[in-house]
Amino acid sequence: MTYDAVVVGAGPNGLAAAVELQRNGCATLLIEAADTVGGAARTEEVTLPGFLHDVGSAIHPLGVGSPFFSSLPLESFGLEWVHPETPLAHPLPDGTTAILERDLHQTSSLLGDDGRTWTRMFGPFVDRWPAFAEHVLRSPLSMPRAPILMARFASFALRSTPGIARAFRGEAARALLAGNAAHAGTPLTHALTGAVGATLIVAAHAVGWPFPRGGAGALTGALARYFRSLGGTIETGHEIRSLEDVPRARVTLLALTHGQVAALNDSGLPDRFRARLARWRYGPGAFKVDWALDAPIPWRDPTVARAATVHIGGTLSEIMASEAAPLAGHVSERPFVLLSQPSLFDPARAPEGKHTAWAYCHVPNGWTGDATKLIESQIERFAPGFRDRVLARASWDTERLEQWNGNLVGGDVNGGVLTLGQTIGTARWGVPGYRTPRPDLYLCSASTPPGGGVHGMAGYHAARAALKHSLGLG
Ligand SMILES: Cc1cc2nc3c(=O)[nH]c(=O)nc-3n(C[C@H](O)[C@H](O)[C@H](O)COP(=O)(O)OP(=O)(O)OC[C@H]3O[C@@H](n4cnc5c(N)ncnc54)[C@H](O)[C@@H]3O)c2cc1C
Repeated sequence: MTYDAVVVGAGPNGLAAAVELQRNGCATLLIEAADTVGGAARTEEVTLPGFLHDVGSAIHPLGVGSPFFSSLPLESFGLEWVHPETPLAHPLPDGTTAILERDLHQTSSLLGDDGRTWTRMFGPFVDRWPAFAEHVLRSPLSMPRAPILMARFASFALRSTPGIARAFRGEAARALLAGNAAHAGTPLTHALTGAVGATLIVAAHAVGWPFPRGGAGALTGALARYFRSLGGTIETGHEIRSLEDVPRARVTLLALTHGQVAALNDSGLPDRFRARLARWRYGPGAFKVDWALDAPIPWRDPTVARAATVHIGGTLSEIMASEAAPLAGHVSERPFVLLSQPSLFDPARAPEGKHTAWAYCHVPNGWTGDATKLIESQIERFAPGFRDRVLARASWDTERLEQWNGNLVGGDVNGGVLTLGQTIGTARWGVPGYRTPRPDLYLCSASTPPGGGVHGMAGYHAARAALKHSLGLG
């Protein structure tokens, strides 16, 4: 069989690229190193039989809000979004809990004096979600279609999180902002962290923070089934080490991070371009734990159980200290923990009456220490007795994550560190988007815009570029 296109790597971006190529009439082969598709969006039994864990991504605001995924008939291929009662709970050291409700005004009313500021800050973007999403999920170098709205958003992008948080008087609003900004994986004093925080908050109000029923693998499974229904071919268990291993086609798209592409043999890329890819910097690693639980997490404040996502890290200053530590080469004694408790809203994820939980914190890239105790101590602070409910746990250090999926280089979940240089600065000019000096070779992993997260937009944009520039179908 000869193919028009070959895509390497069957995570959300590779799957998105393959779907877009195949649905535009290109016979496409999708090659994957692992035995199953899904990349860092896969659901597996990693603790005890019957407990289904998301080893990688768990909560998908950018998945449900992705302009590309929303344009596909994925519900007909098994995808069902589960919306928890509320997107996010953030327990605070004083025993109260900051809640990010789906409704902007309900959230504002919970924030007291800060409510008006919250509405003024995020409301304009919530009201114009489609235009906002289209821009933030495109290349930051592309021209905005809603320039006034995006000029307003630039004020988030260029300021640090504490700089933005100064607009709030109370700890609840500051902590909500800081917890969201901490998804960036860089110190909160850095520019762009506020933009990450604002994007996730706006998404919570505009489209919610759902997850696929059955786990993240249900989303990538639906993409794979849809791709096959269009006539696409998937080959698993095939790791590409050299471009000579890839069957000849009119175009090849690599959903591999920049450092991995630089390391490929026989890529046919000029040395200068390969050297730029090799200089790509990765961000902190994740230290991840999955638990099988005998009962739900015993939160001190029961309102925390209304949310599938919980940010554990106390106040703005505590989260700032935690997120500064990995860059300084260590792990905070009180790491900021992102936690998900999906079985409260999707009971089939565990045997009857039992539960699962998922959490990770940031550690230095490539760190091989064990942060399990630190993470569990953080949970115990807000849910005393948590450890007594643990039936089994699986801990994933950065090495184990990278063995599971080669794109998680040093445990980095975002395909590269979020800096101004790598987003809009000189490093990005060197590797601007999806095209390479080889007219038949494209890049489409999370290292390409718009970066990490399960949205498939890098794959979609790369496929559009290949259709236009190499396949004459754009
Ligand atoms: C612990 C963790 C938690 C996360 N939480 C969230 C979350 O809650 N929400 C969210 O939106 N995002 C989350 N993410 C990030 C998100 O999963 C990634 O940004 C996203 O999966 C990137 O998609 P991708 O297609 O570029 O790469 P990946 O999903 O990493 O897929 C790359 C694929 O390429 C394959 N591959 C690698 N090398 C080769 C090779 N040489 N030959 C063939 N195949 C190869 C890999 O096996 C893998 O299947 C999380 C990630 C992790 C690890």
